[in-house]
Amino acid sequence: MSALADKVAIVTGASSGIGRAAALLFAAEGAKVVAASRRKPELDLLVKEIVEQGGRAVAVAGDVKDPAHAESLVATAREQFGGLDIAFNNAGTLGEMGSVAEVSLDGWRDTLETNLTSAYLGAKHQIPAMSERGGGSLIFTSTFVGHTAGMPGMAAYAASKAGLIGLTQVLAVEHGAAGIRVNALLPGGTDTPMGRSVANTPEMKAFVEGLHALKRTASPEEIARAALYLASDGASFMTGTAMLIDGGVSICRT
Ligand code: NAP
Repeated sequence: MSALADKVAIVTGASSGIGRAAALLFAAEGAKVVAASRRKPELDLLVKEIVEQGGRAVAVAGDVKDPAHAESLVATAREQFGGLDIAFNNAGTLGEMGSVAEVSLDGWRDTLETNLTSAYLGAKHQIPAMSERGGGSLIFTSTFVGHTAGMPGMAAYAASKAGLIGLTQVLAVEHGAAGIRVNALLPGGTDTPMGRSVANTPEMKAFVEGLHALKRTASPEEIARAALYLASDGASFMTGTAMLIDGGVSICRT
């Protein structure tokens, strides 16, 4: 039996990287997927691929900073597929990089809104829909940065992603009795457009890979498999966690 048979899932950041890999994997495991991001052409290609593989998906383009977008994702899950069981709130940005003294207030706010306020907006609409189904699984993509490692120039990113872990814990205790599990997923370096924007020279790529115990970065599919686990009943007793899937970047000192 497929891990997500008869489930309905929202996946944000589905146009690229980890979100795209997760949307494909969730659909292959039987979920009906509401795929979201700003770039509609990329989403349309993804939906086409899922349908060609025998799955079901619909694309909704929008910005995770927009409250109406969060509402419309849940409305689409209800209207097209009858409800909501899983939300992989994965869209994110590195945002404006630089030392705290250099980062602009607008840059700071944009990163916090994209990575953290978006999670609040998502949960606000996703939780009631999951309650109607008697439970569900919310997953937020955080990172090891700001949790197990400080990285220079990433203040807004680290603060926003660490904030997701606090939000995860509060949501988990608020909604555990309703059967809703809430977990944060903490990838290490991952080979996506975002990852490649950091590892943007052969020297930086080697440096980033060397930070990990496995001496490489992850493929998006490796991270998607961890998201699938958190989404599935295999993780039925997991809630409130900050789950590292980081190739040992958090413990590596060599
Ligand atoms: P990616 O390939 O660049 O994908 C980022 C996704 O987020 C895209 O689909 C993008 O879609 C979407 N997005 C960004 N801003 C958005 C906005 N304002 N509204 C709606 N969608 C937005 O990067 P990725 O590595 O897969 O990143 C996925 C998540 O993993 C992020 O939360 C990231 O922080 C986290 N992460 C990544 C790494 C890494 O090394 N790659 C490590 C740890 C954690 P559109 O451009 O179409 O809107």
